[in-house]
Amino acid sequence: MRRKWVGGNWKMHGSRAMASALAGAIVEARNGHCDVAIFPPFPYLREACAACAGSQVMVGGQDLSEHETGAFTGEVSAAMLRDVGCGAVLAGHSERRQYHHETDAQVAAKVAQALEHDLAPVLCVGESLDEREAGQTAAVVARQLGAVVAHCGIAAFGRIVVAYEPVWAIGTGRTASPAQAQEVHALLRSQLARDDARIAGSTRIVYGGSVKPGNAAELFAQADIDGGLIGGAALQATDFLSICSAAG
Ligand code: PEP
Repeated sequence: MRRKWVGGNWKMHGSRAMASALAGAIVEARNGHCDVAIFPPFPYLREACAACAGSQVMVGGQDLSEHETGAFTGEVSAAMLRDVGCGAVLAGHSERRQYHHETDAQVAAKVAQALEHDLAPVLCVGESLDEREAGQTAAVVARQLGAVVAHCGIAAFGRIVVAYEPVWAIGTGRTASPAQAQEVHALLRSQLARDDARIAGSTRIVYGGSVKPGNAAELFAQADIDGGLIGGAALQATDFLSICSAAG
């Protein structure tokens, strides 16, 4: 039985005061059985880590450099995230792939950096609307997942959370139906199972894309959906906590 996982991606929202208040409200109210992580913007990681210290709520970065250290202005390394108290990090979010042209190879290198520095990587994969309409969903997510399996090895998926986030459902209010999401989750799991069935059975594969309190329970009830990565609804403590409760 896989323990459910729910993450809140705050994207480029908030302030120091909001970060302390939101993280504090989540820590105070959270008493369920799923794993919970929050991903505030870099400048607010300290506030979030302080609010979550000693709690079960993990704090993570929204991105990391694929490099260890050096002349990479504007970048943040895995070691730095670890140093400020992070336990997790997103890699390959579609907004990074789309606006910053991150390639599968870069995403795989980022996941490797995260693993090396003991951060739990959350590997985001997902197809665009054009790709879905062209019948390429399975090929796209297989390519994105395969790049990380090839670079990091199947054993790494004992520590990686995979987030299936169809790009057309992110921030659009258009959610994949539970059946549509389940179909892709099952494909991802069977791809991992071809390399190692035991690891595939324990890897958390979570869904992201307009998850709300009203649709979370039905999505999370699917056999291969092990929780969610939440954007918009992660900015209100009541909504986020209600989604966490739907996961356990
Ligand atoms: C996300 O940013 O990863 C996301 C899923 O956003 P939203 O929930 O707003 O669609």
